[in-house]
Amino acid sequence: MPELPEVETVVRTLETLMVGCSFTDALVHTPSIVYHNEDFASFVAHHQLQSFKRRGKYILLGLGDNTLIIHLRMEGRFFINHEFNRPNKHVHVSFKLSDGRVLHYQDTRKFGRMLITHDVNQTLAHLGLEYDDPHFTVDYLIESMKNKKTSLKAFLLSQSVICGLGNIYSDEVCFRSRLHPEKRVSTLTLNEVQSIHREIKLVLSEAIALGGSSIRTYTNAMGIDGLFQLQLQVHMRAKQPCLVCGQIIEKTSVANRGTYVCKQCQKL
Ligand SMILES: [Zn+2]
Repeated sequence: MPELPEVETVVRTLETLMVGCSFTDALVHTPSIVYHNEDFASFVAHHQLQSFKRRGKYILLGLGDNTLIIHLRMEGRFFINHEFNRPNKHVHVSFKLSDGRVLHYQDTRKFGRMLITHDVNQTLAHLGLEYDDPHFTVDYLIESMKNKKTSLKAFLLSQSVICGLGNIYSDEVCFRSRLHPEKRVSTLTLNEVQSIHREIKLVLSEAIALGGSSIRTYTNAMGIDGLFQLQLQVHMRAKQPCLVCGQIIEKTSVANRGTYVCKQCQKL
């Protein structure tokens, strides 16, 4: 599933490919992907694409007074060609561009969603701060963790305090902070919260920088899915030796998600 850095890469790639264009028409092949789909084509048509932004794991395309919000969920991706039709059964929405090209949204699992809104802040009011928001401070984290019985991993995944972290980068933040993902957040020391704060910022900004360097290599045929991978230190490394201490990495379940831990470096 794309997390914040991958979504950022998709947004920057779309901007590179479509800046200055307008949508002139749209075909919704699968109505369940689009909320309030009856007016969808007329809402998106005839507005220049004025902005390409990201909030958490959401893509925000500015269209006049409205914003098209897209969440890729598990498998959503885009590609561009010149045919305004349905190229295959996994394409669910097709956008005609003012220069003759067509942007297709493809999603084999059909979990992605699109929505047009007047008020992005209200629609996404459930989201917490961005990792680079000046209000995202150690004090903010301490205040948010106070009296919470939740585990560190569930806290990082929740989106309501800090948004954009998914399963992969939550595991990386826990490992780099040398903290067990099952640790209750209300029991963390000041030092531990400081290292979580630092690692969230580092992991996400390193991954975004890496994604940024991959944008130029995209071709239309490859599809725009933002996928690239930071050199992961713990996630997906089950049964391999820990890069710090050599102990074998274990896969377990925390917050109902497959979770990778070095029990030597990340003691409970
Ligand atoms: Zn270790």
